[in-house]
Amino acid sequence: MFGRITSVLVLLLGDGSWPAVGEPNVWSSELSPIADVHLHYSWDQQEVTTPKEAIQRLEDNNVVLAVVSSTPPELALELRELAGDWVIPLFRPYLEPGRRHSWFNDTRVLEAARNALASGKYQGIGEFHMIAGHGPSLKNPVLQGLIELAIEFDVPLLIHTETSSHRYFLPLCKRYPRARFLWAHAGGLLDAGQVGALMDACANVWIELSARDPWRYIHSPIADTEGRLLPAWLALIRRYPDRFMVGSDPVWPVENLHAWDEPDTGWERLGEYLQFHRRWLNALPEPLTERLRLRNAQRFFRNDGR
Ligand SMILES: [Zn+2]
Repeated sequence: MFGRITSVLVLLLGDGSWPAVGEPNVWSSELSPIADVHLHYSWDQQEVTTPKEAIQRLEDNNVVLAVVSSTPPELALELRELAGDWVIPLFRPYLEPGRRHSWFNDTRVLEAARNALASGKYQGIGEFHMIAGHGPSLKNPVLQGLIELAIEFDVPLLIHTETSSHRYFLPLCKRYPRARFLWAHAGGLLDAGQVGALMDACANVWIELSARDPWRYIHSPIADTEGRLLPAWLALIRRYPDRFMVGSDPVWPVENLHAWDEPDTGWERLGEYLQFHRRWLNALPEPLTERLRLRNAQRFFRNDGR
């Protein structure tokens, strides 16, 4: 029923207008429950958004399952402690700020990751960045060790690749068939053909579509200017309806990403990012919408949410 009401509201409001930044989401009581599988709550976000405010924003947007990674990693635990089991902390191997490009040379990471997973407080590993031409290489012991830990503790990995081809990820997902990978931003700049080729080759890779909105990965859209999913993406989702999820990745402003002197106000735009997904999701048949909006994430993270 919620789905139908939301569809009607989206039709009524389907004039291209979005809720303004910082405004409470007027549809919150009518929104269908959604899983957001790509959230961050990092040091530069905590400066402007308290844990309580972050949880309130999730609830206002009817996020019922929230996957969070933070720099430093323990900040994600603050949201979990406040909200409960429907917040899923991932262990991010960036032990302090500034590790995005060097985490794989940090000799402390594997022990920290083992302790984190053994504590039972973290239910996965990620998000971490793999950048073609920069690193880590596939032989890197920290990268390999993290994947082996994920297999040992039977938890998923959220991986962000920066590359022009799906072939970069291919040897990794093939080498570790027992690892469960969630591929951030559907490979970022990659098109549906490349993402589909990787999915064909690696049954252990699931896809999430965070940041593939008109504001961030602007050169590789998944939707048209009306917010409708492009045909190639729709065809791929129909081919693999159990392997797609959505998320917000609330970082903003993009041009200040990881700046040391400005806080990250991304949580103020959470509703906007999720509304982008709700819009194209609501145009799909309900059983398919429900899988992408919620069920696939529940199954993948083995958590029914709140
Ligand atoms: Zn990312």
